[in-house]
Amino acid sequence: MHSQGTLYTISAPSGAGKTSLVAKLLAQTPRLGVSVSHTTRAMRPGEQDGVNYHFVSHADFQSMLDKAAFLEHAQVFDNFYGTSQQWVESQLATGEDVILEIDWQGAQQVRRLMPDTVAIFIMPPSKEALNERLTGRGQDGSDVIQRRMDAAVAEMSHYIESDYLVINDDFDTALADLEAIVRSRRLTLASQELRHRVLLSALLS
Ligand code: GDP
Ligand code: ADP
Ligand code: 5GP
Repeated sequence: MHSQGTLYTISAPSGAGKTSLVAKLLAQTPRLGVSVSHTTRAMRPGEQDGVNYHFVSHADFQSMLDKAAFLEHAQVFDNFYGTSQQWVESQLATGEDVILEIDWQGAQQVRRLMPDTVAIFIMPPSKEALNERLTGRGQDGSDVIQRRMDAAVAEMSHYIESDYLVINDDFDTALADLEAIVRSRRLTLASQELRHRVLLSALLS
């Protein structure tokens, strides 16, 4: 007998709102967790090691790569990012659903390795709004913001590789959309049979 959660990837250009949406979704959804990635990026003001990311040196990241510790990894901007394979697999094995907030390169790798993965893409309502959100977040300098804006079109062109597309215009509407995706996946026959095995067998006996 084994339970198996659903794995989701959520991709979006930087500043589209994925981190805020995922944080809110997690707070209101039981049996759902988010993977904390390892990154070589410098910590932003307000970020906490082990909460937003596991912040590691290049040498530590390389040693994890050598040990095949990552389910996927990618270079985004000048930094390396990777997802712990062991954490994701142990969560899924307990029946918890898991979200990976990763870029399109990572989402492609995960889909190849685990074809049942549900891929979600989040778009901003306009390029102007994306720029305003990156600026308004107040955590990156103007050169970094310009590089992220330049990279946004390339990231967004990969939306066609996803199963679901959510537009983050009104925050609460986008949140309800994400909730609907998770809820509908939990209602599929395969998921319900795993969750309600005892009930189904009692009803049918
Ligand atoms: P933000 O998107 O503006 O919050 O910027 P971040 O620095 O948090 O993330 C930068 C990029 O790295 C984004 O495209 C993320 O989706 C991606 N990213 C973060 N963690 C991972 C990871 O573990 N693996 C991969 N492949 N990409 C990641
Ligand atoms: P990402 O993780 O995709 O880089 P964040 O979650 O950090 O994006 O969001 C970027 C900024 O935009 C944050 O300051 C956040 O509060 C803001 N934001 C997110 N969604 C919306 C929305 N629907 N309307 C207005 N601002 C938003
Ligand atoms: P930031 O450095 O602004 O937190 O994130 C930049 C980008 O890196 C985001 O698009 C984010 O989704 C991506 N990212 C964060 N963690 C991972 C990860 O573990 N794997 C991959 N592939 N991308 C990640």
